[in-house]
Amino acid sequence: MSAIPSNLPLRNDLIGEEPYGAPQLDVPVCLNVNENPYAPNPDVCDDIARRVRDIAPTLNRYPDREHIALRRAFSDYLAKESDTRLAVDQLWAANGSNEIMLQIFQAFGGPGRKALGFAPTYSMYPEYARDTFTQWVTVPRNDDFTLNIERAVAAIGEVRPSIVLVTSPNNPTGTPLSMDETTQLLEACEQASVDGAADGVHPILVVDEAYVEFRTPGVPSAVTLIDKHPNIAVSRTMSKAFAFAGARVGYVAANKGIIDSLRIVRMPYHLSAVTQAAALAALEHTDEQLSTVAHLRQTREQTAAWLAQQTYKGAALTVAHSESNFVYFGVFDDRDFIFRSLLERGVLIRDVGPDGWLRVCMGTDDEMARFREAFSEVLRLAE
Ligand code: PMP
Repeated sequence: MSAIPSNLPLRNDLIGEEPYGAPQLDVPVCLNVNENPYAPNPDVCDDIARRVRDIAPTLNRYPDREHIALRRAFSDYLAKESDTRLAVDQLWAANGSNEIMLQIFQAFGGPGRKALGFAPTYSMYPEYARDTFTQWVTVPRNDDFTLNIERAVAAIGEVRPSIVLVTSPNNPTGTPLSMDETTQLLEACEQASVDGAADGVHPILVVDEAYVEFRTPGVPSAVTLIDKHPNIAVSRTMSKAFAFAGARVGYVAANKGIIDSLRIVRMPYHLSAVTQAAALAALEHTDEQLSTVAHLRQTREQTAAWLAQQTYKGAALTVAHSESNFVYFGVFDDRDFIFRSLLERGVLIRDVGPDGWLRVCMGTDDEMARFREAFSEVLRLAE
């Protein structure tokens, strides 16, 4: 519990709130925050250090506020990764996709505005909404965590949100959204109006693709829809597949109107020269940085298949279909016991989302072996 003195004029709606964040514990096997477990190779580390060294003598000056070189590098990245060439003015970066998302809420949410999401989903979304005085409205997903598309489309018309936020693959469930579903949501947005806004104003569809590089190869990304649709924004990050979480770099692809809206609310010089230099160096090594993704996909398939063979109190576990670098599984009548018993064995996973479900992020082969060993032991204890 945070002990904020009651004589401080903390905003009324923040009284009793806790800072967001998964536990950062010093344990041998950390599988709780969906990072890439493989460190950058020594050549990449040298280049990052060299690039940062090169700009160090300029650190008395503010950085390039528009981070043009980095936006150009993201354009090259998406041309390669998603077969879509976007202009510099269709791209924008920030300190993690968390900051991107906050800027989206600052620009398009606000008092009297609503944002619509599909639960269970990423637990930071209600926090962006709270922090920008936007009302957060959710529509439940189906039992297998796929989107209930009819209900989602109907809700866009009924709720009249300014932001529709969908995650693909979804966190914590790993569920992908098909292009057909994305297009249906986009068309619903293009036909809907926004509560409290002028006629002719339509919601934006934000597709959070934080984990998209882990999808089945060949499946298109929502960035392919940008050229034909002014109201879509696709949020991405270097924190997951790209193995660069510590540098804090996220980005968004959208049409110029959306990017220019974010430029209104961003802090001046929000992206430090050090961050820009490090990100440029890492992007020059895209192939090395992404070289572990195929193996992590394989680890996911193996882990999902192994989990599906395990039994809890006599019943087989349910494993959600995942296109991400984590697997969501259940259903435990006491998930807290499983979570704590794993932790006692040095394995930290995540107890998040609907009661009874747990999420494990893909680690190295050694870490996954330790997870399986500890989990088998815990399942025997639970019998
Ligand atoms: N979106 C989703 C769905 C996530 O799971 C996360 C991180 N857990 C983020 C966005 C934010 O990531 P970052 O700020 O590191 O880019």
